[in-house]
Amino acid sequence: MHKNETDMSMSALLEIANRSSTHPIINNIHQSIKILRNTETIELYWIKAHHGLLGNESADTEAKKAAALHKTPDYDNFPISYDKRLRKQDTEQAHESEYPSSTTGAHLKQWLPKLEHIKDLREKANITFELTQILTGHGYHKSYLYRFKITENDMCPCDNTCVQIIEHILKFCPQFGKQRCDHEMFCGNSRLEPYNILDLMKNKSALTSFLRLITYTYTYINTHACHPEG
Ligand SMILES: [Zn+2]
Repeated sequence: MHKNETDMSMSALLEIANRSSTHPIINNIHQSIKILRNTETIELYWIKAHHGLLGNESADTEAKKAAALHKTPDYDNFPISYDKRLRKQDTEQAHESEYPSSTTGAHLKQWLPKLEHIKDLREKANITFELTQILTGHGYHKSYLYRFKITENDMCPCDNTCVQIIEHILKFCPQFGKQRCDHEMFCGNSRLEPYNILDLMKNKSALTSFLRLITYTYTYINTHACHPEG
């Protein structure tokens, strides 16, 4: 077990401690902590501001900004913020105008073009962390991690040539051939498109089969995200 010691400002700590924080950075931290907890012990420490440490004051300013953003939920945080919003809104038309225009929105729209589809999926499936990663595009596949310079390259270790994007993982990566084959066979027999959620939602078993593929692949990806060579 490793032990990570991280010095933090008080406002950053308070914001991280707030489990219902709607800020995207804080949400990313929550998700990262959740994953790291499997293999690491994480301890967060408060250090006084103006302590003469380089970066401390600017970190504090950023954290205060994050805390101030409370009242403007960011829709990058699918699905909780969506769900709350959906429950508040009255008309379907109002929902449509709320669909996000961010990159996350673009990812999500590819899977679920309308808000009613998100609502539908929430009724039919348990929205897991792995599923959220796929739907929002904010997953621990290397093309995403590389954008933030967390990994040294964006290539999938299966051949060190293919860029590890979501599509590669689900449709092509040989590491998941068995699971993919099971899912595609099932969909073929049911005449459903294996990677079209709208189509899969027509058949409970097909949707379950897809969720099984997602859980399997992304549990693997998440476990290996910090140790790409492992
Ligand atoms: Zn691969």
